[in-house]
Amino acid sequence: MEYLSRCMNQLKSNLDFNFHPRCEKLNITHLMFADDLLLFARADKISVKLLLDAFSKFSSASGLEANMDKSNIYFGGASVLDKTDILAGEKISEACLPFGYLGVPLSSKKMSYQQCKPLVDKILARAKVWSTKFLSYAGRLFLIKTILFGMQTFWCQIFILPKRIIKEVEAYCRCFLWTGDTAASKKALVAWDKLYLPRNSSSWSVDSFYMKGKNPLQVPTPGSVLGLLKRFSTIERLFYRLVDGTKLLLMGNIALVRLYTTDRLQAWGIQCTDKCVMCSVGKETVEHLFFDCCFSSTVWNKVLLQIGIHGSSTGFASELHKVVKRIRKTGVVDKLYVMCFTEAIYSIWLARNAVIFKRPTKSIENIAREILFRVCCRGSEELRSRLLHN
Ligand SMILES: [Zn+2]
Repeated sequence: MEYLSRCMNQLKSNLDFNFHPRCEKLNITHLMFADDLLLFARADKISVKLLLDAFSKFSSASGLEANMDKSNIYFGGASVLDKTDILAGEKISEACLPFGYLGVPLSSKKMSYQQCKPLVDKILARAKVWSTKFLSYAGRLFLIKTILFGMQTFWCQIFILPKRIIKEVEAYCRCFLWTGDTAASKKALVAWDKLYLPRNSSSWSVDSFYMKGKNPLQVPTPGSVLGLLKRFSTIERLFYRLVDGTKLLLMGNIALVRLYTTDRLQAWGIQCTDKCVMCSVGKETVEHLFFDCCFSSTVWNKVLLQIGIHGSSTGFASELHKVVKRIRKTGVVDKLYVMCFTEAIYSIWLARNAVIFKRPTKSIENIAREILFRVCCRGSEELRSRLLHN
């Protein structure tokens, strides 16, 4: 390759050779990376011939030859006459800009929608492969944040993407998150603009922002979600140490009152009964399900008894408040309380779904035992011995 550079550099002193207009100042005749070579010259027959002769000189010395089937010639601003003149003399076919290089199209102009479309297609193809597998919300969110948005970021580092492309990528990511597929067929649990916050706001966030015309240091967090975020990010950050991703997402949903409870389904105009399926008495809301309902309150009281707390549940908001307080503490009972609360919510939600979808249901006793069993498996030796001791 050293020799190739020397051959090319010799051209610079040849008075018959004309640089490409944009390369003259920089003294560039060629660029190479790995096994790819780009040669630059003004679009006149002599310059192109000299350039290719220099390469042939290198070929005959080294034995390395260019594959003409894979090589192309690109013109910019050349007249038709010059083009035909040059193409008649050489055995290289003409192609149009942009051409793909290292996974992105190379173009000297701002990228059009059509030129950026391969990015959307790539993301779509990737999401379609994953959609055949059974992934949890947490898993899908992770894939979006790391892989899909990583692909977009790679392009964003090189080009200014058209807004339409960014919107399309968002739309596919949104569908993929909520449906596991790339076709929209399901209501989103959380509005995209609430997911769509800077990464440090919440781990829900898919970090992307329209920065056009804004000072990056002064981009405001939407005021409507500030309070919510404050509450949610604290809960979530602290919970993260104790629970796994799927349950974390469920917790997040509940904190945002975003579960598909029948009151929400009815608000969307879906015909369904609003009675709680567990007790057939109350109206099914998050507050009722956790833990106003006689079913869930019995489960929760049994669990509380096992960790040595006597008393009955005091409603969802106050239970959540207690949990947030206990999260900050390091006592064994505090840790057990938080873990049991998370597992209880998860188990109660599964039990409620089992009734709706007519799957075999477990008794209250079994559900409480299952909650404690999972806490035992997940907890440290200290927590385990405390539970068993009680
Ligand atoms: Zn109920």
